[in-house]
Amino acid sequence: MSILADLIHADHDEPIPTRVLVVVAHPDDIDFGAAGTVAAFVDHGVEVVYGLVTDGDAGEPAEYSAPELKKIRHAEQEAAGRLLGVEEVHWLGFRDGALVADLDLRRAVSRLIRQVRPDLVITQSPIRDLDRIYASHPDHLAVGEAVTAAVYPDARNARSFPELLEEGHQPHCVPRLWLMASTEVDTHVDITATIDRKIEALLAHHSQNDQRADALPGMITEWASANADRAGTPCCCVESFRSVNTE
Ligand SMILES: [Zn+2]
Repeated sequence: MSILADLIHADHDEPIPTRVLVVVAHPDDIDFGAAGTVAAFVDHGVEVVYGLVTDGDAGEPAEYSAPELKKIRHAEQEAAGRLLGVEEVHWLGFRDGALVADLDLRRAVSRLIRQVRPDLVITQSPIRDLDRIYASHPDHLAVGEAVTAAVYPDARNARSFPELLEEGHQPHCVPRLWLMASTEVDTHVDITATIDRKIEALLAHHSQNDQRADALPGMITEWASANADRAGTPCCCVESFRSVNTE
């Protein structure tokens, strides 16, 4: 098997993580943005934990009540995670479609970071991409902003949210942050060996992706191959991120 360092292409020095926390707004966001990378990490012995900020219960299909949809979305995301080897999924329970990067969200993400204690956090970009408006859903921007603030300074600063200390959550410094769907990318993961599992994970979200199940494999492969071309790497399929050094 390859070594993980050979799968990560960057012009800067990029440390190899041992424990990764991925935080996103909605079920299936991780699978669109980073499932190939998650699978590659797990294959190489990296522990990966998910944090879902909402239950995804404000979307389609309309025939389900919000509580029914919540149950379905949880089951689908957890099944998608298991396909990649991810067993630990935290649901933060914020309202779908109504996220703002306020102190409540920053506190919840800081608590999760202090519990999980990762050396890499992956999240959504806080910067709106006007050329890819679907990737810049307002909930994604809010999560990107709140997670970035939680990584620096909240989770590492004992004086941020003193109530977290009272709960027993000691400060934790996350040295690296990777942003998905960023307008500027500088870190490229070779997902050639894992793209099939990325597609399987996306298809596990039946309530969101069944109606485009035929088109989805082609679309995902095309995106990953366009990423590889843009990155100038020799790989077939790539997921690209903006890496932020927070040390
Ligand atoms: Zn989303």
